Formats: sequence, C-alpha cells, structure tokens
Amino acid sequence: MSNNQTQTASAGAGASLFPTYARYPITLVKGEGSWLWDDAGNKYLDFMSGIAVTNLGHAPARIKEALVQQLDQLWHVSNLFHIPNQAEAAKLLTDNSCGDAVFFCNSGAEANEAAIKLARRYQQLVQKNGRYEIITFDQSFHGRTLATLTATGQAKVKEGFAPLPEGFKYIPLNDFAALEAAVSDKTAAIMLETVQAEGGIHPVDRDYIQKVAQLCEEQGILLIVDEIQTGMGRTGKLFAYEHFGIEPDIFTLAKGLGSGFPVGAMVAKEKLREGFTAGSHGSTFGGTPIATAVVKATLETIVGDDLSVRAAAQGDYLMAQLREKLAASSFVQEVRGLGLLVGIECAGPVADVVTEAQKRGLLVITAGPNVVRLLPNLLVTNEEIDEAVTILAELLTK
Ligand SMILES: *Cc1c(COP(=O)(O)O)cnc(C)c1O
Repeated sequence: MSNNQTQTASAGAGASLFPTYARYPITLVKGEGSWLWDDAGNKYLDFMSGIAVTNLGHAPARIKEALVQQLDQLWHVSNLFHIPNQAEAAKLLTDNSCGDAVFFCNSGAEANEAAIKLARRYQQLVQKNGRYEIITFDQSFHGRTLATLTATGQAKVKEGFAPLPEGFKYIPLNDFAALEAAVSDKTAAIMLETVQAEGGIHPVDRDYIQKVAQLCEEQGILLIVDEIQTGMGRTGKLFAYEHFGIEPDIFTLAKGLGSGFPVGAMVAKEKLREGFTAGSHGSTFGGTPIATAVVKATLETIVGDDLSVRAAAQGDYLMAQLREKLAASSFVQEVRGLGLLVGIECAGPVADVVTEAQKRGLLVITAGPNVVRLLPNLLVTNEEIDEAVTILAELLTK
C-alpha cells in the first residue's frame, strides 16, 4: 500500500488478501453448538464444522475454560523447556491409541510432513536400508506443503509448483495387485486415508487394508494413516483405523484435535522413536502450553464422554434418514460414510446444492464435484439431523 495515511477502514471483501479461496458471500460472526450466525443476523445449522474441525460444536464451554485458564498463566516458552501440557496431551494420545510417541505441530500438512520425514529418516538412519519412496493413492489428499501436495494424488493441487520432491508413487485404492507391482526395495512407507475425505468419501476395503498392513509388516515398510479428517471420534471410533483391524506405524492428526485451535500431531509406534533425535525435526509453535491445554481438554471430553460412540449412533441415524428421505431422488446415487463423515454421491455437480442449502440456513460442503459432504459436530441431535435432512431432501428430490 502506498498511501501514507494510516488506514483503519474495515477489510470488506478482502482486497488485501491473496485470492487463494473461493469464498461464499457470507460473513459468520458468532457460533454456539451446531449453530452459526452471520453479520445480518441470519442463523445457520452447521453441518460442515469448519471442515471437520469443530467436532465439539462452536465455543464448547469445557474447552474454552481450559483455554482461558491457560491464557491467564502462560502462552509460549519454546521447546527448549519442558512443557507439562504437551507431555500430558501426548500421554492421552498414546494411552488411547496404538502409538507410543507424539510430535506436535500446527497443522495437518505439517503432521504429514513430519510423518514423511520420520519414515525416511527411520529407514535410512536406523534400518540403514536407503529406502525413501512413499506410495500414496489416487484421489488422496495430504496437504499443501511441497512434500504433502506431492503425496496428494490429485493433479490440480500440483499445478505450477514444479519441480516437486522426488520419491512419491501413486496407485489406485483397493487394488492389491497394483500395490504389489508398485512396491520395491526403495519403498519406505505406504500412506493412506482409511476414508478418502476430500477425494469423495471413499472408505478403504477392510480386506484390502488388512492385506496392505500384512505386506508392510513382512517387508519392513511403514504404514502411515492420515487421520487428519477421520480422527478425534468423527467416524465412530477415536481413530478410524480402529474400524479396520489394523495398527498403523504412524498416524497423523490435526483438524478436530484442537476443537478449532490450530494444532497438529504425528503419533508413531515405539520402534520409530529413535527415528528422530534432538535437532532432527522441530517447530517453534509445536505443542505450546495453550495449544496442548486445548488438546488435553478435547481428548478428555471425547474419551470421557464416549463421543465416538455417540458419533457412530448419530452417523447411523443421519445415514438412515438420508437413505429414506432421498430414496425418491433420481439425482442421488448413493449415501455412504463412516460415523459422522458422510457423503451423498449425486449424478452431477453439487455446487448449487451447497449454495441453495446456505439460502435455507444449512451449511454443507462438497467432496469432489459430485458429492455433498456432511460433517456435523459429534454432539449433533436427532432434531438437528431431521432439520438438515428435510432441507437436503427438498433440494435433492425436486
Ligand atoms: C485437511 C487435511 C489435510 C491438511 O491439513 P491442513 O491443516 O489444512 O494442513 C491433510 N490430510 C487430510 C486427510 C485432510 O483432510
């Protein structure tokens, strides 16, 4: 800006921002539970939860209390000191998962970046086998840093960013022959989402993922599960891998981990602990006292209140209602999902369904061009589900 007068005008539509997001013409100013209000006073039923982030609803009292208490005490000290909240949050994660060691960061992409770095470093410096290749899947989504967009199996996120890091290979999901053909003595890890979320709500086949896990075990390949969207109770288990009878060597978290406070984590099994040593990885803001106070409160709430079980029940109710009320629609092809990660696959583009739903006071998103994605919070009530289904049935059966 060249104007030498100090500008205090309101930002409006954001002329000073990069145009990295196609924004809806809605400005949300207040949230409570499943509900949001815009600056004109309109009320919305939130069935997207900030893209699977506000799993406990908006402004959950218990998380706010933990946050405010920590804000009164200490904000930031750096990882050159012990941070009790960080150690305690890590213990909650390892006590409630197959993992043994946690690295905290600030986003999903960073968690996956840490997983990729750990997998390579473990193979190269601990196993000393020179392996570096990471196999990922078509239609996957793993983030926007250079390594994680390279891991992502979607061409559109890579456009214009060449040269990309080496050592990534892509195969179709649920095709074991393709995996066997792709594996080599260079394969360090296989990385996947148990339910591809951004890619269109595609759960992995149980038989397939079990064979993948067995192949990894036999060949010393690390299995990395991206739980960034599926984790924190959303699918009806605390972590979605629990549905499939497998244990990943590494899994990654972000989105719902902080109930809306930005935080990510990579969790790994004991053998991987020595993959990182002091100085081999780090983050200034990783696991601050504030962030990990929120993680602790979030985990205590989800685990203590059995919210995974609740998500499973509410997800079953949501899918049953959708199947019943959308049965007459020739546009709707399939309703599928796991817990409260639900997709409505349609015969054509659904962008208009999202904007029409907004006009009727319901917030939903897409997952690929033809799938309406529903991500209500884990405390969503049957009445709220009925209200959302009524609006969707109006839009999808007309
Ligand atoms: C959102 C998401 C990411 C990226 O997380 P950011 O916090 O946006 O970096 C990675 N993987 C999956 C499966 C996601 O849903």
